[in-house]
Amino acid sequence: MTEKKQEIVYQGVAVSSGIVSGKVFLLAEQNFVPLHKEVPPDLRKKELDRLKKAIAQTRADIKTTSLKIDEMLGTNYAKIADVQLLILDDPIMRKDIISMIENGDNAENAVYKASDKINRSFETIGDEYFKERRFDIQDVSKRLIENLLGGTKQSLANIERDSIVVAHNLTPADTVSIREKFIKGFATDIGGKTSHTAIIAQGFEIPAVVGLKNLSRAVKSGDDIIIDGNKGIVIINPSAQTISVYEKEFDIWFAEHQELEKLKDLPAQTLDGVQIKLLANIDNPDETEYALKNGALGIGLYRTEFMYFNRVQVPTEEEHFENYKKTAQRMSPFETVIRTIDLGGDKLSKLGFLNIDEESNPFMGLRAIRLCFKYPDIFLQQLRGILRASAFAKIKIMYPMISGLQELRMANALLQRAKDDLRKEKIDFDGDIEVGAMIEVPSAAIITDILAKELDFVSIGTNDLIQYTLAVDRVNETVAELYEPLHPAILRLLKKIIDDAHRAGIKAAMCGEMAGDPKYASILLGFGLDEFSVSSAQAPKIKRAIRNIKMSSAKLLSQEILKIDDIKEIEKLLN
Ligand code: PEP
Ligand code: MG
Repeated sequence: MTEKKQEIVYQGVAVSSGIVSGKVFLLAEQNFVPLHKEVPPDLRKKELDRLKKAIAQTRADIKTTSLKIDEMLGTNYAKIADVQLLILDDPIMRKDIISMIENGDNAENAVYKASDKINRSFETIGDEYFKERRFDIQDVSKRLIENLLGGTKQSLANIERDSIVVAHNLTPADTVSIREKFIKGFATDIGGKTSHTAIIAQGFEIPAVVGLKNLSRAVKSGDDIIIDGNKGIVIINPSAQTISVYEKEFDIWFAEHQELEKLKDLPAQTLDGVQIKLLANIDNPDETEYALKNGALGIGLYRTEFMYFNRVQVPTEEEHFENYKKTAQRMSPFETVIRTIDLGGDKLSKLGFLNIDEESNPFMGLRAIRLCFKYPDIFLQQLRGILRASAFAKIKIMYPMISGLQELRMANALLQRAKDDLRKEKIDFDGDIEVGAMIEVPSAAIITDILAKELDFVSIGTNDLIQYTLAVDRVNETVAELYEPLHPAILRLLKKIIDDAHRAGIKAAMCGEMAGDPKYASILLGFGLDEFSVSSAQAPKIKRAIRNIKMSSAKLLSQEILKIDDIKEIEKLLN
């Protein structure tokens, strides 16, 4: 009699959307700790030669990996293998290994101990991206030990039929041997939103869930599995009832996916023919591909502060220039709106190079443009980088956290200085570069009419505007219920900002999360919003909403909504 297996549900982190069911292919971990063997002094030179050869072989392996990933998924993805080359050649780790061998350790054990030491130091790091890189260190040392031992590794190339890969972790080397047509999903014990599994799964567009803790120890190859990459759920040995629930979920998801896919090349246009600009928000140049794939016709917010994280020195002008040039050229002929750094608030703790005293109220402290005025050299470096890049593709500049006219004028004066210097140095830039400001501080919202006279565009940052207007910390879950985009105070402000911009003859965009929620699309269109800048994943949904709305009805609706005092009544009317 066959035993009925028990259904187990795991909750992890959803990193690539979609639902899939099938059989597990378990990529087993080869966890070995090489034994210490004392090497006599006369053989130590030989041991060092062995290490040298293994390093050369590992370097060749990583390069092959990089080339193969490049072929399969493109240059951006191949870069994840490049990180491993840097680790392999890390001088501190190398010195440590050599010194251990010189003191009598065998090469395998020396590599293991040196990488283990670095790994431990990474465990205490709070930053998610940085923490992830310790898996690269593990992978590099494993390859190096394998090459010292002359061994081989279990491979995804062994997959002969449709499978869902379960692993402790997937490394770039694992993914090279992927037989794409057989792999339908990924589930791994470790990893977060920036893990290799996440990046690769998104590239292949297959569902993936990571951070499942001990899943790989609980399954065997051949077990039944469902992966829900929308909710981050993995189910092992699903019951008949769960399977039927998921079949329905899959049908709903698939139908929506197909429908949104069809919209990709259609215009973001209302039922009565009004064209709306749909742009994407990005944090780094690699996201441009995802933005274009999701039908965004430009970047409405490039959050450049992400360039400053996880480093000990401020990015140089050259780094700024290269980064923005690359980003804007990839988006060309569409525009890229580069927001100058918004460091501070919740984004300061990650900085290693600015010696800023802890603030008791960082959201109201030295944040964004205020920090730029305190450190004008950092600001000027960025402005020069942006201006230089503007010679190569369509770029606009946007200032964050402007609260009054003096600040705007000060920022513009520094911009003028950067322009004058470049002219003197005979360096090209777009002399007509447009300059906008985020409207995200209530005082700026109230005087948008004054600011607009000296701006080329405004972009409403609802994330902060709501936080500051309603006095609700945007990252504090205990007051999350009070964070209400439909609060009449917010709606009146939005209408005023858009009207003021239009009266001054400039466009009003929105790049806060409110723009990315289809629920608010009709009201924002009714208020006259010209541009929606949203996360790439939301772009198709906003386009669908815009295409289902008649501008004339949206206008009537928004007029009605402004007359209502009670949020619940507003919600009712919107629904
Ligand atoms: C906003 O405040 O709405 C915004 C888009 O900026 P950030 O979320 O980066 O503060
Ligand atoms: Mg903001």
